[in-house]
Amino acid sequence: MHRFFIPRDCINGDIVHFPAEEARQIQRVLRLKPGQPVAVVCPTLNENKEYRVELAEITQDRVTGMIRSLEVLHSEPVLQVTLYLALTQREKFEWMLQKCTEAGASGFVPFTSERSLVQEPLAVKKLERWKKILKEAAEQSGRGRIPTLSTTVHFVEAISGAVKVNDLVLAAWEGEKIVGLREVRKKAVSRLERIAVFIGPEGGFASKEMEFARRAGAITFSLGERILRMETAALAAALLILYEFDIKAQSSGGGAVGP
Ligand code: SAH
Repeated sequence: MHRFFIPRDCINGDIVHFPAEEARQIQRVLRLKPGQPVAVVCPTLNENKEYRVELAEITQDRVTGMIRSLEVLHSEPVLQVTLYLALTQREKFEWMLQKCTEAGASGFVPFTSERSLVQEPLAVKKLERWKKILKEAAEQSGRGRIPTLSTTVHFVEAISGAVKVNDLVLAAWEGEKIVGLREVRKKAVSRLERIAVFIGPEGGFASKEMEFARRAGAITFSLGERILRMETAALAAALLILYEFDIKAQSSGGGAVGP
């Protein structure tokens, strides 16, 4: 079923008035017809609910629908994982935003560092385009909210900011030979609500950057013996952190395994 994220004020009683862009998509791109069902989420409400809507009027300039039922969404993790990503080529960065949104990331912070491929902060236009990518990925993957995207910060500032607002700050570093995510979990307090994870640029983090991060309270961790590309590391880190630390991942699918 097609899913649309719309502002709360587009719902009036049982009637949904689709915003212009979604209306155009329903009418021209998807060519949906009156009577067909779609799903609607108001992501800013954080209510983890999805409205099942039957399309009613579909004309050139107006698309409306009737709310038929309300479903609880189970897709949002309890744990908030923010990915701090070194700025890199556009396509690669967009891929990371899209895939890590599917994986369940709560937010993204682009940063520049000694070896980041891109050294200038993001232009506003790009930021807007990237927010659209996040929205589409969240809609497609059945999320209940859209991850946030912050403006560019420098690595030092990023680390200092991250340690203030997170329960745990992690830095993926291929130079870390001992500590993996499982070791981090074993030592961590049990109820973590917010984790930040830093993924370095193609050229890697400079050792003095990792020293600074550790002094500030971050933990460096390994993603295994192989060197992953930056985008692979970002997706693996997002998935593995949610798998290891999210309370929901611990409690779901807990049936017996094996013969
Ligand atoms: N400069 C390195 C590769 C950097 S890979 C080299 O060529 O040797 C890009 C980023 O992915 C790194 O900064 C790190 O954050 C992450 N990464 C890649 N492989 C990793 C691993 N095995 N463990 C932890 N992080 C890894």
